[in-house]
Amino acid sequence: MADPVVPSSGVLSPLGLDAVRLSPGFWGDRVALNREVTIAHCQEWEEREGWIGNFRGERPRRGREFSDSEIYKLLEAMAWADHPGLPALAETVARAQEGDGYLNTRWSGSRYTDFAWGHELYCYGHLIQAGVARLRVHGEDRLTEVAVRAADHVCRRFMEGTETCGHPVIEMALVELYRATGTERYLEMARRFVERRGLPALADIPFGRAYYQDDLPVRRAQVFRGHAVRALYLASGVVDVAVETGDEELLKAVEAQWERTVARRTHLTGGMGSRHADESFGEDYELPPDRAYNETCASIASIMLSHRLLLATGDARYADLAERTLYNMLATGVALDGRSFFYANPLQVRVPAVPLEGVNHAPEGGLRSPWFDVSCCPNNIARTMASLPAYVATSSAGGIQIHHLTPSEIRHGRLAVRVETGYPWTGSVRVRVLEGGPGGITLRVPAWASGATIVHVPAPAPGAPPPGDPAVRPASPGYVSVEGPCRAGDEIRLELPMAPRWTFPDRRIDALRGSAAVERGPLVYCAESVADEPPLGDLAARVGPPVEREMDGVVELEVAAALGSGGDGGWPYAPVAGGRAGGADVTLRLVPYHRWGNRGPATMRVWLPI
Ligand SMILES: [Zn+2]
Repeated sequence: MADPVVPSSGVLSPLGLDAVRLSPGFWGDRVALNREVTIAHCQEWEEREGWIGNFRGERPRRGREFSDSEIYKLLEAMAWADHPGLPALAETVARAQEGDGYLNTRWSGSRYTDFAWGHELYCYGHLIQAGVARLRVHGEDRLTEVAVRAADHVCRRFMEGTETCGHPVIEMALVELYRATGTERYLEMARRFVERRGLPALADIPFGRAYYQDDLPVRRAQVFRGHAVRALYLASGVVDVAVETGDEELLKAVEAQWERTVARRTHLTGGMGSRHADESFGEDYELPPDRAYNETCASIASIMLSHRLLLATGDARYADLAERTLYNMLATGVALDGRSFFYANPLQVRVPAVPLEGVNHAPEGGLRSPWFDVSCCPNNIARTMASLPAYVATSSAGGIQIHHLTPSEIRHGRLAVRVETGYPWTGSVRVRVLEGGPGGITLRVPAWASGATIVHVPAPAPGAPPPGDPAVRPASPGYVSVEGPCRAGDEIRLELPMAPRWTFPDRRIDALRGSAAVERGPLVYCAESVADEPPLGDLAARVGPPVEREMDGVVELEVAAALGSGGDGGWPYAPVAGGRAGGADVTLRLVPYHRWGNRGPATMRVWLPI
């Protein structure tokens, strides 16, 4: 199955790229742009920066110690997209592999001397994921051979002992290779890497061992902590190991960590990771909008984790978080032209960024950049977009479950359906049955969609009198099903209420006290100010019904606000509560957060003082 995650058991089974095709629409357009523009963009920059040349032995070696992993992520993107550039790039990589399977352009000759920062196993992880993608889309070839040789090398070198990598990802890669090949030692190697972590297995460092989740065994952790990408990749691998080994305790541990992290350490956009210094989660409720780090890669890792938990449990809350993160983080991470990217994703930008020529060395969140010294995010976006159809729907004995409502055609067994919708701009979704089958159809009703309705319009039976009006049923958040069998011509109509809504923060999030945000459907909105538009630093919004305006197919919102001059009183504190007041009445325009930053340097805020 052409799918990044194919567990051997679970409540739901994945439907891969061969079963789900996206049609033009919010995600279909982005997936096409990724295939046509972003993949080539990444390859051009990796060539220009010398990271591909490293595999050809060009000297001096260029790029960071983990730059090999970027080529592997690109190869994974190419594999999912069945891109014609893959064989040549895979051949370049293959020629750098050593006789025993070792492959790393930075550490060749001084291998395995720095587990904390060397990223050797991390790089293999991405290589193996690329190999699995190629195997599932195309079958065995040079890339899959290289990946298997690397995995065998890892098993020989690390099966015994106490070592592991400072940056997880090898765990989920090895489990997936086990799933794709049936070779059990890959699963056993992944299991041992998971169990070793936190004993501890790595050196103590100035950030502390929590930085790389080596402060305590994963079974004993209460919450995700430390470097957010590392924490979420590890958790994804732990779910994979738990599912394949039937380790319920381990699965429950990750579910509990996910639950607390979502309740206390997640931004409204689904972004994770508050701290810039070590790219880490903060403490509970440490969620400042302006200093939010929210690395794009952490959001991708969060989507990967939630998808795995969804497959294992069938619980809608995992699809809900994945949807929030898809629309407000993944879609934000890449510009509308597919050629520049956010690394950090704060919820407030106070000062417009200065446009850069060339490589960005500081991944702050003011403007998207075409490339970074550490370009994990662009390549991660490329591979995630390329495999995005695999996240849309699943199957079970009961039929098809559609978790993400986007224009698409989905096939499972004899059942084939077409999803037609303008979502997320409209809440009307039609699912037409193209070919009938024994299974039913289940749709996810997002957690915010109270008051949704569903109606099943059966195809007219030949020779039968026309049926009366079909019954409209309420559809509560969670899942709503139309039982099978479904017949060609059947239609399901789901209506989600799309009125904009104000959202208020938990009072324990000190940095957000006294403010509110506006959401509509799955989208978080923000105020944005470019060039000579009024600045957003000194404003107070009035909580009233936002007005909708459609602009070029995009729904924008307007709210009433008072805008101050921003003048100083000399001292930003006072003996009375309330601080500065007043300002001119204005209509404040709000745009979907994922669209901000496409009009040049800007200030921006999601949370509006009220
Ligand atoms: Zn990244």
